[in-house]
Amino acid sequence: SPGPILGFDCDAPPPQAAALLDRRQRHFARPQKNYYREPPQIERGWKEHLFDVEGRAYLDMVNNVTIVGHGHPRLSAAVGRQWSLLNTNSRFHYAAVAEFSERLTALAPEGLDTVFLVNSGSEANDLAIRLAWAYSGARNLLSLLEAYHGWTVASDAVSTSIADNPQALTTRPEWVQPVVSPNTYRGPYRGESSAGDYVGAVAAKLEELDEKGGGLAGFICETVYGNAGGIPLPPGYLEAVYQMVRARGGVCIADEVQVGYGRLGHYFWGFEEQGVVPDIITVAKGMGNGHPLGAVITRREIAEALEKEGYFFSSAGGSPVSSVVGLTVLDILHDEALQENARTVGDHLKERLQALGQRFPIVGAVHGMGLYLGVEFVRDRGTLEPATEETAAICDRLLDLGVIMQPTGDHLNVLKIKPPLCLSRESADFFADMLAKVLEEGW
Ligand code: PMP
Repeated sequence: SPGPILGFDCDAPPPQAAALLDRRQRHFARPQKNYYREPPQIERGWKEHLFDVEGRAYLDMVNNVTIVGHGHPRLSAAVGRQWSLLNTNSRFHYAAVAEFSERLTALAPEGLDTVFLVNSGSEANDLAIRLAWAYSGARNLLSLLEAYHGWTVASDAVSTSIADNPQALTTRPEWVQPVVSPNTYRGPYRGESSAGDYVGAVAAKLEELDEKGGGLAGFICETVYGNAGGIPLPPGYLEAVYQMVRARGGVCIADEVQVGYGRLGHYFWGFEEQGVVPDIITVAKGMGNGHPLGAVITRREIAEALEKEGYFFSSAGGSPVSSVVGLTVLDILHDEALQENARTVGDHLKERLQALGQRFPIVGAVHGMGLYLGVEFVRDRGTLEPATEETAAICDRLLDLGVIMQPTGDHLNVLKIKPPLCLSRESADFFADMLAKVLEEGW
């Protein structure tokens, strides 16, 4: 295995990396939103470590997709084998697809026994919205302001985050019914006992809709408030909202793309933290460890509603290779006890970060659980003025020290910590040590 993580100093990209950057910018369209500066040119990875084209090592603290770690030999072997047997055509190949669907439904709450396999979280959310429309016969969908659910047309429409989608306010279609996000740290209502106020905001929106008519197709939200840095929803919030939505014939969609699949350590799914069971679960990211794979898990009657009204066919979704990837990821999660690791290493890291909060007033709060943590930087703990420029500068310094981190949240003032779930305690300590160094020495 590659050697230990070493800190280093670099101000300018080395010449070879600069040449690669130039080539990429000529033809590659992906915008690099949110990055503090051009990220390094990564060539390979091993567990939670990344190595750039010059051989420099980095600790990957932002890759929420690669849950079993980079370069896992079991995954490479399983993919190679299935690829050489049959790489595509999920319509005529049943073994891996059937087994993966079976394993997924076994992980879901009872009754959610039907799986659609797609290629990404955005697709999963688009499909979930179509299912809600077909099943309810209505169109209106409640979603949270400052949420992110994807980039495809429907998932983008319910992604009302200003930072992710600055045009959202002008392009939002009529069927999207946004309500305030239950952010217990910097929302209009604060603290763990704010559920009643946030539920009240949903009730007011629903009454407005009742008056207008047109019905309710459902409600989509992340079961932990991801965009703001992993803030748990106030206790009781989802139970009350789900009840109001169901009373109107709507379905409850839990977007588990980022928080589900063991990342929270204490729970496999985020909705367990709220003690609720959704009607539709959307999953992606970690389930394929970076391979394009997503799923919608729902009840048979909801799935059948779509079959009556429309069709679903994804050429590559749930291909034999994708299904084998999904199965192998589940095997590795189990055999290496990665959810347990996310809990113990995550708890340890959270304690270390909270200790930094005692020393440095810029640390406004440490959010989250397991290996889904957020460090929110503020200029003033009373006004919560976001320390946006400082966060970018802190990320720059962390990169110099060998840690890949990026500012997130609507004010770009949060370090969202979402490393591979195999993160070792030593790597967690390295991250906490480097952050302490930056906060001590200045940025
Ligand atoms: N939902 C959530 C909560 C996400 O974080 C993301 C991706 N950041 C998506 C959906 C979209 O997933 P994908 O990028 O796989 O389309």
